[in-house]
This record gives sequence, C-alpha cells and structure tokens, in this order.
Amino acid sequence: MNGLWRLISVALLVAAAAARAEPYAGALFDAHLHYNEESLAAHPLPDVLARMQRAGVRAIVANSRPNEGTKTLAAARTQTAAAGVTVVPFVRLYRNRADYSGWFADETIYSMVLNELAHGTAAGPYRGLGEFHLYDSANANGPVAARLMRLAQEKNLAVLAHVDDTAIDLLFAHAPKVRLIWAHSGIGGAPVERVRELMRRHPTLIGELSYRPGLTASDGHLSAAWTALFSEFPTRFVLGSDTWVNARWSAYEALMQEARVWLGDLPLGTARRIAWSNAAELFGLPEPK
Ligand SMILES: [Zn+2]
Repeated sequence: MNGLWRLISVALLVAAAAARAEPYAGALFDAHLHYNEESLAAHPLPDVLARMQRAGVRAIVANSRPNEGTKTLAAARTQTAAAGVTVVPFVRLYRNRADYSGWFADETIYSMVLNELAHGTAAGPYRGLGEFHLYDSANANGPVAARLMRLAQEKNLAVLAHVDDTAIDLLFAHAPKVRLIWAHSGIGGAPVERVRELMRRHPTLIGELSYRPGLTASDGHLSAAWTALFSEFPTRFVLGSDTWVNARWSAYEALMQEARVWLGDLPLGTARRIAWSNAAELFGLPEPK
C-alpha cells in the first residue's frame, strides 16, 4: 500500500509540475514574417518594431509582397538596432497577388530574383528565396521552380516553401542539398508520421511551425505526437508568425505568446533551439545580447 501511495504521489507531483510549466521566456527568432504592401500603412515601421520588441523577437526572416516591404525593414538600420532586431532578408517571388498562381513557369520572376540578388539590401545580401506557394504539387516541376531551386542550392540561399508533402520530395529532386524551410510544416496537416519520414529522408529540411494543425491541443499545450517529433529532431524546427494579413500584425504579441506557452512544455534546451538557435545557425547569427 505504502509503495502504491508513493507512486501515486510521484505521479501527482509530475502532473502538477507539467501543468505549472512556465511559458518560454528567452529570445525568439521569427523565421516567417511578411511586411506586405497593405501592412505598411496600417502598421508603420515603428509599430511593427515595437510589436517585435514587446514579443521578445530578436531576429526575423523578412519576405514581403512586393520586396519593398523587406527593403524598408532592411534600410531602417538605426530603428532595428534600437529595437534589438536583426533583419534576415529573403527575396519574395511575388510582385503582386497575380504572381502567386504562375511564378513557377514565369521567366520574368526568375529575372526579378536575379536582379534583387544583384542589388541586395541595406541589411546585407539576401539570404533566401520565398515564401512561395504551390497549390498543385506537380508545379514543383515547373521550369522556373526547378531553376530557382538549383540557384538556391548553388548560392547557398535558404528557401521558404508553402507546399504539401508531395512537393517537398519534388523540390529536393531538383536540389538535394538545398536548405528548405517548410512553411507551416504542412498547412494541410500531413500526418506526423509523414513529416518524420521527410525529416529522415532530407537532412536539410527545416519545419516552420505557424498554422501547423495538431501541434497543440485545445488548451494551447504541445501534443504528444509533436513532443516526440521535437525530441527526435531538436535541431530541425523553427518558429514563425506568418503576418500575411494585417490581422496577424494586430495579434503579433499574442501569437508569440502562444508559441511561448507550448515551448514551455519542452526541455529548456529543445525550446531554446526551436525558439532561436536553429534559425540563428541557419544564417550565422550570434546569440542576442
Ligand atoms: Zn507566409
């Protein structure tokens, strides 16, 4: 009886400790951020930087439609330094909304990307391509999609791809060593087993976690399946806000706080990797001061 009681006490203590887990409090790297045309007026630069600062975000992957939004962030050297935010610029493939549906076969997009890469930004050279979308995975074999993947691999640019699990394999077939950040780790909710299989098959695949179905339970805490996946691949996942519409900017601090809650369910070292180090190592950023 005594032994059983001790077991029950330990179980209760463990349960209580789990329930009391504090939200993660360290620096965050937002590896999926847009500063799109319609956000520039609604959320001027001082507003977005203040939101990042309040959220504890110390670095961002900036990619915007059109690229002017990213260049605005990159050019604001004094303000971003004052906010303690490092800007990692990516070339967005879209000049406008119409480009979403045909970029993978549009030679003028390839030229635009080369032009952007040649000019760079005030915060330094572009470090990646994307975000791009493929609503039909077969378009991963579009001529411009294939050329951009080879370009990214050759120039050591990361790629931020909003695609399904089938397209992940197709994109890697063009460039097996490219550093591919899978936006949302499958927004359609590819089974965790399938995400695991892709992670094992492609060592340079990184999963970004905004909008990922099944990541957390309704209480905002991490699901068992994702806890297990993170313990198998602690170096392979990053955070993102995906500020694709202004509502995401209005909710920016709340979104980051949601991430802090589930990060708090992980061992501290794993939380720190997903919150900061995995993305920081991709782009060679130092620890934030
Ligand atoms: Zn996005």
